[in-house]
Amino acid sequence: MPCDMVVEAGLLATQDDRRRVLANQALIIHGGLIQKILPLEDAAELRCARRLNLRHCVVLPGLVNAHTHSPMTLFRGLGDDMPLMEWLTKRIWPLEAGLTNELVHLGSQLACCEMAALGTTCFQDMYIFQEATAEAVEAFGLKAVLAEGILNVPTRSYQTPEEAYARIANLLADYAGHPRIRFAVAPHTVYTTSEAILRRSFQLAEAYDLPWCIHCTEDDAELEHSQAMYGMRPVALLDRLGCLSPRSVLVHGVVLAEAELHTLARAGASLVHCPRSNAKLASGLAPIAACLEAGVRVALGTDGPASSNSLNMFQEMGTAALMAKVREGDSTALPAQAALDMATVHAARALGWQDLGRLAEGGPADLTAVSLDLPRHTPCTNVVSHLVYACQGAGVELTMVDGHTVYERGCFPTVDYDGLRRELRDALGWARSRLDSISA
Ligand SMILES: [Zn+2]
Repeated sequence: MPCDMVVEAGLLATQDDRRRVLANQALIIHGGLIQKILPLEDAAELRCARRLNLRHCVVLPGLVNAHTHSPMTLFRGLGDDMPLMEWLTKRIWPLEAGLTNELVHLGSQLACCEMAALGTTCFQDMYIFQEATAEAVEAFGLKAVLAEGILNVPTRSYQTPEEAYARIANLLADYAGHPRIRFAVAPHTVYTTSEAILRRSFQLAEAYDLPWCIHCTEDDAELEHSQAMYGMRPVALLDRLGCLSPRSVLVHGVVLAEAELHTLARAGASLVHCPRSNAKLASGLAPIAACLEAGVRVALGTDGPASSNSLNMFQEMGTAALMAKVREGDSTALPAQAALDMATVHAARALGWQDLGRLAEGGPADLTAVSLDLPRHTPCTNVVSHLVYACQGAGVELTMVDGHTVYERGCFPTVDYDGLRRELRDALGWARSRLDSISA
């Protein structure tokens, strides 16, 4: 059997159709793919270039972060505990008005490091200067579904929506057939765009066969904006414009009405749940149990690190499970397995990247390994429970994409992390002086 590497797993959380957790397994990896999954003893004699002993770990599929704004790592902590509009107008928008391609590249590199160290192998990004994020992802080795956020006002990377569409076309041409970098079309919200942008962007997503992502129904203020602009709620508008289909990925859905859940389910649209961002901005608790009951596919995302403060999908899983119980007053709401599904298989399907989020023969070797030696994982009576409720991102020893290691025990083999931190110190100085000059 051809073999580049054997990964020896104490436990293997496959996330396959039966959600099997197997003990003492070997993953035989060749050409970036999992060629075979065997009991450890059957792989003992196999000759290969590398043998990774992770017998003290659970090996699981790399987590899929279905919504973030990765370059906002630069703005982490600059404006916590503020009202949403004040945070946007006094912190985020003034900072974003000074962004450059180089700063977005730095922020994206840092985000790649953070995600890899927390077991994430693929993320969906919505931001500006996405060519800089693509460059960072390409060099680092993660997978990503990148989307230039489309707004009806000029941004630092384009002046008009037409220019934004042209940027999307250019990125698609530059990365055509790339094995790790894909794209989506992403109007920002209904109230920061227009009917024309919503229609045109959806047509583009259909023409290019890409996911179409949008922040939707995040809080009561958004409902008011939508009523004032269009005379209806965001979901009704998207439905009327023909923007709801299996390629539609609606982010947040905090204030979805019961009837809207059925509209989304009928259309086959996905929802991305970002519970930590929703909590920190006091947007509310999304009706996730009701979404699942109605048959809506729900994925998990961290949202940007300026509003959730970390790109930690383990925390997102735990928070999702806890918040659902609080919202429903029902401790059986959103069990651990459902939360893990939302961070793996469901997120992969929402982004149209079906072979991610599970470990299967013939599938990509995108995986992460979490130590079971930690006190918080001892005794290992229920590994899915530990990953969702106990782990919180601790004990990630290794993360791999297409069989290539992107993180191993504190080291990032594809990036000069110390050099990156030096550059980031300068960038932080830039952000602080910018805020000082605005408030002076
Ligand atoms: Zn967002």
